[in-house]
Amino acid sequence: MTDTVLAVLNQPSRDAAAHDPSADAYTWAKPLEEHLQVQDLGAIRGDGVFETITVVDGRPQALEPHLARFVRSAAMLDLPAPDLDAWRQAIEAVCARLDPVHEAFAKTVMTRGVEGSGRPTGWVYAAPSGDQSAARTEGIAVVTLDRGYRHDVERTSPWLLQGAKTLSYAVNMAALREAERRGADDALFVSTDGYVLEGTRANLVMSVDGRFVTPRTDIGILAGTTQADVFRFAEGEGIATSYELLTLADLEAADALWLLSSVRQAAPIRSVNGVTRSMDLAMTERINDFLLSREQ
Ligand code: PLP
Repeated sequence: MTDTVLAVLNQPSRDAAAHDPSADAYTWAKPLEEHLQVQDLGAIRGDGVFETITVVDGRPQALEPHLARFVRSAAMLDLPAPDLDAWRQAIEAVCARLDPVHEAFAKTVMTRGVEGSGRPTGWVYAAPSGDQSAARTEGIAVVTLDRGYRHDVERTSPWLLQGAKTLSYAVNMAALREAERRGADDALFVSTDGYVLEGTRANLVMSVDGRFVTPRTDIGILAGTTQADVFRFAEGEGIATSYELLTLADLEAADALWLLSSVRQAAPIRSVNGVTRSMDLAMTERINDFLLSREQ
């Protein structure tokens, strides 16, 4: 590895907004001095797993469910099991070092490491979340997009890693850009056989006749930590909850819809494919108050 030579491109794309035609094409760099080596499989193949954890007033939320999912994702990729004591310590350390801020996030990343090294790479960083209020109070517009897989993909084709939180988010980001091209804020994936799945970075929960319903978690989607806590909130309020196979007709018939995720928390959906939906803003506020006051 020490004989690796590295050139960092100054202008990797002529189409990039910051393109400067007068700049040199590349700069020589020392590959082993920086934190991430250029042959790290996380960087070159997206071969790794991650978690994004909400941090409120320096406290990581739903930490144990996030760590459990981190371990599950690693196992699905046949990665070595994360050392949870070490990850917990690192997460707590970055949270403690953050400048005081109400809402932040911590991201844990573990990759397969540099090819042939047999040693995974891991890091955690934390940063302020930025203002999430518009999505929470004004809602978001979504479009439905075909994910290209049947709802039973996780069972029929586990090598597609649906349901694992891998670093390969290029497809999710492409779906997000497609949603934006269609004038929406986010996409809601649907299986080829017509079942509603999840957002690009969030789970769907709908309110139906006073119940909270979410897609079953065995259909190639992430089991959401935020969704699980919203169900905990609902149960405390006497609202029935269930995991179901949901179709587009069910989506259309629902009384209110939310996308739920760490960082953004509950974002009410104000339109689906351009059709306005009614939002339950009072309920949204109660859900977000609950989520942001979690002690763990
Ligand atoms: N589904 C996908 C594809 C995601 O990327 C995420 C979060 O990033 C979620 C669901 C929501 O998970 P959580 O609530 O645990 O953040």
